[in-house]
Amino acid sequence: AAKKQGGNQVIVYNEEINKVTKEKLVIEASLRKAIEQGDVEVYYQPKINASENVITGVEALLRWTDRELGFVSPEVFISVAEETGLIHSLWELAMKQACSQVSEWNKNRLQPLQLAVNFSAKQFLDPASIVKRVKEILSDCQLAPEHFEIEITESTLLYNLEETIKALKEMQEYGISIAIDDFGTGYSSLSYLKTLPIDCLKIDRSFIQDITEDYSQSEIAEAIINLTRSLKLKVIAEGVEEEYQKEFLLKNECDHMQGYLFSKPLCKTDLEQYLRENDLK
Ligand code: C2E
Ligand code: MG
Ligand code: MG
Ligand code: MG
Repeated sequence: AAKKQGGNQVIVYNEEINKVTKEKLVIEASLRKAIEQGDVEVYYQPKINASENVITGVEALLRWTDRELGFVSPEVFISVAEETGLIHSLWELAMKQACSQVSEWNKNRLQPLQLAVNFSAKQFLDPASIVKRVKEILSDCQLAPEHFEIEITESTLLYNLEETIKALKEMQEYGISIAIDDFGTGYSSLSYLKTLPIDCLKIDRSFIQDITEDYSQSEIAEAIINLTRSLKLKVIAEGVEEEYQKEFLLKNECDHMQGYLFSKPLCKTDLEQYLRENDLK
């Protein structure tokens, strides 16, 4: 068949596609099994108020180490899950595990943690039922809506816009916060910031990494912080790795931060230890 189409180029191209498709099929099958066997689990990355030195919340991030494939990055398996529909089981898994865990931690805390969960665009294919399901899970786990945040990216807003806005509004009225993840990397116009129910912008890691020791490339981070001030939105910096980045952010009154400087995403037990060692200092 390759010969009929002519040229080596075509053969190579087809083989590449074949390989990628095969890998996706392998990942899909293994992921399906991993979900059933309980091999996918939630890790928690602390969010910090660096001016007050308190842990304000955690972001739930899925982790999967397959028995045969080894560690598979979320970037890879989330995108396979989105293509195959497995994203719905992953979402259920992340929501139930994280909501019940954080609810339990909050029973012993003076200052409750806010839990953030990443929602994929696919979660809004049926907006009415996602709202219903979110409310059910929060109530089952006894996690207050005020202690729950949804992280979406700008691309989530590309599909089904009207319906998505309606769903987000309903959840916001219920007390849930809405954050825009990876802010500044999307292609959408900024006008949506005025019309959408949004509480918080998460400055993308790439703009934080631009903050070097001489602060020469920090304009975008600064501009986003100023934008959130004008729009009266909360702001958090993602991917803070260096002390001088933290200092820059504090100077610009972006107190909320997340990144390896404070902690990597941790499993339940390690997060508990982190809380014991760093809480309310
Ligand atoms: P995200 O939501 O933007 O999550 C932040 C990512 O940056 C995480 O990668 C986190 O481990 C990493 N990170 C945090 N601090 C630092 C830092 O200081 N330096 C560097 N270099 N990286 C840092 P992770 O866990 O690999 O997740 C990647 C993406 O996968 C997430 O990006 C999110 O889009 C997606 N994801 C993870 N869990 C879920 C989930 O439960 N549902 C959905 N829909 N997506 C998820
Ligand atoms: Mg996120
Ligand atoms: Mg992000
Ligand atoms: Mg991301």
